[in-house]
Amino acid sequence: VFRILHGSRDLALALVEIEQHVNYLAETLRVLGAPHEVVDAPAARPFAPAGGAVRFENVTFAYGGPRPVLKGFSLDIPAGQKVGVVGPSGAGKSTIIHLVQRLHDVERGRVLIDGQDARTLTQESLRSAIAVVPQEISLFHRSVMENIRFGRPDASEDDVRAAAAAAQCGFIDDLPEGYDTIVGDRGAKLSGGQRQRVGIARAILKDAPIVILDEATSALDTESEIEVQRALDRLTADRTVIAVAHRLSTLSSFDRIVVLIDGAVAEDGSIEELIVKDGVFARMSRLQVRGISVDVALEETR
Ligand code: ATP
Repeated sequence: VFRILHGSRDLALALVEIEQHVNYLAETLRVLGAPHEVVDAPAARPFAPAGGAVRFENVTFAYGGPRPVLKGFSLDIPAGQKVGVVGPSGAGKSTIIHLVQRLHDVERGRVLIDGQDARTLTQESLRSAIAVVPQEISLFHRSVMENIRFGRPDASEDDVRAAAAAAQCGFIDDLPEGYDTIVGDRGAKLSGGQRQRVGIARAILKDAPIVILDEATSALDTESEIEVQRALDRLTADRTVIAVAHRLSTLSSFDRIVVLIDGAVAEDGSIEELIVKDGVFARMSRLQVRGISVDVALEETR
């Protein structure tokens, strides 16, 4: 009886361990999230970074349905420019940031990164040149140190700490075991703003010429928002930035705003230019001053 009980306890422990491994693997796959439809061309070359210019040239793209999301879409982003993409739900904002990462292949036209057609590059080399801060930061059931190191697996502890400091992650020192504190599923709970800063630290550590930001729609409290904005300022300095933005406070730091409606550029210019133009963006800004989110404001101004 003892042996059976002992055996079943070992089995239970083994099952718990297996479950943890499976969860870890599932999380890893979710974070990597690479769709299977894109394959490297037989003669694919590694991407040769040259500042991080991004150019959509007459791109047509559909998700398999009859109506293309982008139809003859062109957009030229010089290296080092910070572009905020705004638009109502379904306009194609996420599609654009997916195509820059070549998560899908375009049907017609080209996506050029530093003049190189994304379809001719190895996916690995292209993605290593792009740091993404997603809306929802996935944390593994691992230490904070390992979670940040996910941005660059060969980074030293000092590199991780420097990236965390740049990303305003001072809160890590106050966690029960500092950088060794386990976070993620069943780990220490981090606030929304803290998770975002861990995500930004990962991206800073990656040190890529192109940064993609998918701003969370849920608002943070004012203090967290200030810290996240500071972290973003550090991440985006001297890099090409393409951001799906929802708040005017974020937009104010961009060189250029592209208003996307039904997969086409409706307005394109600096904030000042678009305000003077007194079009959709200007109307939207007036609504947002009254506390209405950019997306909803855009729906209302159409
Ligand atoms: P939101 O602000 O709601 O995220 P968005 O501007 O980012 O919207 P996209 O997510 O790019 O818009 O979607 C553009 C269009 O493509 C929408 O009509 C959407 O329903 C469709 N779409 C997006 N992803 C897929 C997919 N994986 N399969 C099929 N259709 C999709």
